Amino acid sequence: MSAASGPQPAPAAPAQPVADVAVIGAGVVGSAIARELAGYELSVTLLEARADVGDGTSKANTAILHTGFDAKPGTLESRLVRAGCHLLSDYASRVGIPVERTGALLVAWTPDELAELPVLKAKAAANGYDRCEVVDAAEVYRQIPDLGEGALGGLTVPDESITCTWTTSLALATDAWLRGTDLRLAHRVRSVSHDGDVTTLRCDAGDVPARWVVNAAGLGCDLIDQMFGYDRFHVTPRRGELLVFDKLARPLVNKIVLPVPTARGKGVLISPTIYGNIMLGPTAEDLEDRTATGTSESGYDFLLGKGRRLMPRLLEEEVTASYAGLRAAVDAGDYLIEADGEKRYVLVGGIRSTGLTSAMAIAEHVRDLLSDAGLKLTPRSDVPSPPRMPNIGEAFPRPYADEARIASDPAYGRIVCFCERVTAGEIRDACGSLIPPADLSGLRRRTRAMNGRCQGFFCAAEAGALFEQYRPAAHATSGPQEVPG
Ligand SMILES: Cc1cc2nc3c(=O)[nH]c(=O)nc-3n(C[C@H](O)[C@H](O)[C@H](O)COP(=O)(O)OP(=O)(O)OC[C@H]3O[C@@H](n4cnc5c(N)ncnc54)[C@H](O)[C@@H]3O)c2cc1C
Repeated sequence: MSAASGPQPAPAAPAQPVADVAVIGAGVVGSAIARELAGYELSVTLLEARADVGDGTSKANTAILHTGFDAKPGTLESRLVRAGCHLLSDYASRVGIPVERTGALLVAWTPDELAELPVLKAKAAANGYDRCEVVDAAEVYRQIPDLGEGALGGLTVPDESITCTWTTSLALATDAWLRGTDLRLAHRVRSVSHDGDVTTLRCDAGDVPARWVVNAAGLGCDLIDQMFGYDRFHVTPRRGELLVFDKLARPLVNKIVLPVPTARGKGVLISPTIYGNIMLGPTAEDLEDRTATGTSESGYDFLLGKGRRLMPRLLEEEVTASYAGLRAAVDAGDYLIEADGEKRYVLVGGIRSTGLTSAMAIAEHVRDLLSDAGLKLTPRSDVPSPPRMPNIGEAFPRPYADEARIASDPAYGRIVCFCERVTAGEIRDACGSLIPPADLSGLRRRTRAMNGRCQGFFCAAEAGALFEQYRPAAHATSGPQEVPG
């Protein structure tokens, strides 16, 4: 062994391979983009600041698969929501994302709103959706007998659907991973530097060099955009708070009850959830703090006031949870999706209140922009099959009720969370999945454990123990290049 004399130079960090494309942000949009691009002969890296995928705005929304009937005709958002609705509906049936086509009824409460219904019907047609019908008050009450007094008429939207936003983000990220995407969790991009054709994304956890960069950072989109030398928009976090009512409330509403939308948004709705509850919300409150996802007393009071008017009977049921999400609101009345061929950079910003629905269409649009800007796209001949996601939707078979499954593996017969009927087998499977939960919140999103009326009071200790027992010490973050079978 040779004696060291004085400080030795630190060993040079191994050079990172240069990715063809780096996507910043593993929400539903960034995950869809990474998945799409990984279907071509490209090396793709997906960077996420948090320890899990789908842990930003994509985890806290109303989870409606929109038809796009009320979008502003002619906008990019209108086109991508409509296309995304078809793409996600089809994808959901292939990978097992639960979707229930409940339909929606938009209700008019004032003469002005009543006069707006034919206008909305024409708008829907201009958006390519021609299945809306104006109905009278008697029909509104026939469809929703427990609605509060005073409804004057309604507009039916038969194809609005409810889905699971958690499974959607996870499916798209898992699919991207299976296609070989290098998933880097806990990689917050702090700055960027450019050297010729290569942009290096500087993160505390290490640098990531790439030839092309897609900015899908949601609430952080404008900050990343500034790192690329732009000053073109500002993201305002628009908080939406929601109340979740107990499953006993579910028979009250079998479709989404919408208000007439205003310039500020879609307004407060009542909707069944895919997990068998009823949801009331969201509010719309502009904030400065991009991390303010807590709920507030004023939001709670506001929603109870709305609920009292919309459906007094609902307030006789118990609220079992409340949550809030932050929309990435921008001044522009449309999505901000633009490519800069010179900087080899694409901005995907302003995806406010429809991004769950449009994510897969946004991904195709970004792919086309990259191609137009000069990225060579050669479709892969060996794209692996998509994942099959565990079902956590209430209307579809679940392990606790599947005799054959329980017979072959008794862990599916051992219920841990009695409110949501989640079994030890599902918790074990989630912990062993390709993108395992980083913490108990991630476990909730994958299984529904601890999400019921007791909010984990009964099962949190056991769910936590199983999580500790089965969680992998470390998991590979790069998908296989070849997938067996
Ligand atoms: C209350 C509410 C209700 C909604 N209802 C619906 C609905 O019913 N239907 C619908 O279609 N849409 C709905 N939406 C909109 C939908 O949720 C969003 O449009 C969508 O989730 C946006 O996804 P995203 O991937 O762009 O953002 P996000 O999910 O926020 O993902 C962006 C990711 O980027 C990461 N990131 C940020 N900065 C950095 C950085 N510097 N480095 C690395 N990573 C970074 C974040 O951690 C985050 O995970 C709703 C939104 C809200 C708030």
